[in-house]
Amino acid sequence: MSEQTSESTQEEPPILFLHGIERHYVQGDATLEILKGAEFAVWPGQSVALVAPSGVGKSTLLHIAGLLEHPDGGEVYIDSVATSKLSDAERTRIRRVEIGFVYQFHHLLPEFSALENVVLPQMIRGLKKAEAAKRATELLTYLGLKDRLTHRPAELSGGEQQRVAIARAVANAPRILLADEPTGNLDPKTSDHVFGALTQLSRASGLAVVIATHNMDIAARMDRRVTLRDGLVVELD
Ligand code: ADP
Ligand code: MG
Repeated sequence: MSEQTSESTQEEPPILFLHGIERHYVQGDATLEILKGAEFAVWPGQSVALVAPSGVGKSTLLHIAGLLEHPDGGEVYIDSVATSKLSDAERTRIRRVEIGFVYQFHHLLPEFSALENVVLPQMIRGLKKAEAAKRATELLTYLGLKDRLTHRPAELSGGEQQRVAIARAVANAPRILLADEPTGNLDPKTSDHVFGALTQLSRASGLAVVIATHNMDIAARMDRRVTLRDGLVVELD
C-alpha cells in the first residue's frame, strides 16, 4: 500500500520539502544543536508519522515546517515555493492557505459549538456562513460527529474534541496538515478511530499529513514512518 502511494505520488513534486534544516537553541553557555541539516519531503496524499523520544525536536521540526518558526539554516519549500526570504505577510498567507495545525491540546473555542468552531475559520477566510456550515457539517460527519454538531467542547469526549480540532484544521482545505502529538490524552480505540478517519481524508483529498506521535498503532496506519536521529530525519521502514 505504501509502495503504491510513493510510486504514484513521486512523479509530482513534494508539497512540503525541508532542505538542509538547521536549528539550535542557545541556553546560557551551552548551544543545543537540535536539527543539523535535516532533509524531509512529503508528497500530496501521503501521511507520515514522526516518531521520536521527547526532547529530540519533533515540535521544532513541525513549527519550522508550518512556518511558525524560522530555521537557522536551510530552506522550507511549500508547494515548491522557497519560504525563507518571503515577507512575514506572505509567510502568514501561505500558512493560512496551505497549512493546518493540530496541537496536543485542542484549543477549541469553549463558548462555541463543534459546528461553529469549524465554521469560524472559514468565515474569517471570507466564506459565507451557509457555505461554511455546509463544509463544516460534511467534515464533522466524515469524522463521525454528525450527532455532535451543536455540542460545545465541554460536552464532547476527548476523542470528539480532537476530531473537531482536526475538522477545524482542514476546514479551509489546506494542502498540508501538521499535528503535534494530538493523541496525548486519547485511549487507543478512540485514537485509532480519529486517525483512521484522517488517513482516509488524506488519501481521498490529496492532503499531506505529518503527525508527531508516540502511538505505534497510529504510526502503523500512516504511509511512512520517520524519526529524528542526530538532528536528521531518518526513514524507519
Ligand atoms: P520534542 O517535541 O521532540 O519533545 P522540541 O522540539 O520541543 O522536542 O524540543 C527539542 C529540544 O529543544 C528540547 O531539548 C527543548 O528543551 C529544546 N528547546 C525547544 N524550544 C526551545 C527554546 N525556545 N529555547 C531553548 N530550548 C528549546
Ligand atoms: Mg513536542
